[in-house]
Amino acid sequence: MEENTTIEHHKCLIIGSGPAGYTAAIYAARADMNPVMYQGLQPGGQLTITNDVENYPGYPDGINGPSMMIDFQKQAERFGTDVRFGLVTKVDFSGSVHKVWVDEKTEIHADSIIISTGAAAKWLGLESEQRLNGFGVSACAVCDGFFYKGQDVAIVGGGDTAAEEATYLSKLCKKVYMLVRKDEFRASNIMAQRVMEAENIEVLFNHEVEEVLGEKAVEGVAVINNQTKEKRKLNVTGFFVAIGHKPNTAIFKDWLDMDEVGYLKVTPGTSKTKVPGVFASGDAADKVYRQAVTAAGTGCMAALDAERYLTEIGAH
Ligand code: NDP
Repeated sequence: MEENTTIEHHKCLIIGSGPAGYTAAIYAARADMNPVMYQGLQPGGQLTITNDVENYPGYPDGINGPSMMIDFQKQAERFGTDVRFGLVTKVDFSGSVHKVWVDEKTEIHADSIIISTGAAAKWLGLESEQRLNGFGVSACAVCDGFFYKGQDVAIVGGGDTAAEEATYLSKLCKKVYMLVRKDEFRASNIMAQRVMEAENIEVLFNHEVEEVLGEKAVEGVAVINNQTKEKRKLNVTGFFVAIGHKPNTAIFKDWLDMDEVGYLKVTPGTSKTKVPGVFASGDAADKVYRQAVTAAGTGCMAALDAERYLTEIGAH
């Protein structure tokens, strides 16, 4: 331990500040668990890079992602959650009191921990893709597809997510180009079949994206056939990236079970990890649904599970 490290003890520590973390905080604070939350590098999580959220119940006119997350934070703070800016860099779950280090300065000892560190979409890495993110470029068809109703869009990826999202988009959009870099799908047969059966999806195998076109909004996508080297421009107004997600769980790898990609494993139907007192919620433990509302739901579960645990060990 460094000389200037402060040590604090808390009943409940929440790591991460998306819908899962804040919902856990609201429940934990109202149950007098005095939760402390560390927000992480991107306070508010993935929703802060989304424009309009129209599928979260309770907002009939929609709301923009950053405002929604400010509301979540206010609600958590109203009941006394201690929300702090800081990044958890190391954990030690070997003892009955769990240890967490924040920004190399603070050492927290917590009876219960709720992990809600989320996931991040993978991107192609093009400058134009980042510049137009939120202005026609999206990594979530369910969130943003509606804005391209009746228009032509492109989606990149050949896995189950891309297949599912292409099918979803095909019901809203006039035409969907699906760009698959190999000559075959990675998606399961049934999902791939749905794509092939949709009349308005054109699958371009062996195609890669060279650039997303447009200054202030997407005006097209420049693609290349990686076999013939033939280039073409697709006239689309929406560009969806569906090449996978990476859960933010690297710091837990020595302590918790996770799948090969890093999604945390919990006892089905609960938020319990294999370490008593450590609970997982939100996208960090969900590779299938990944919605704000499902994250909020599992955040609630984690707080209720944590409260029961604290009662059982006599800490609450
Ligand atoms: P996957 O890793 O399965 O697929 C990623 C896809 O993106 C692959 O086709 C891959 O190509 C392609 N890709 C990766 N990087 C690039 C790149 N730089 N440029 C172009 N293409 C790229 O991720 P998914 O998100 O699709 O699925 C994750 C997991 O979740 C899977 O296990 C999947 O089965 C599951 N899932 C299940 C669903 C369901 O059952 N309803 C729905 C959604 C996901 P390549 O094949 O060439 O590597």
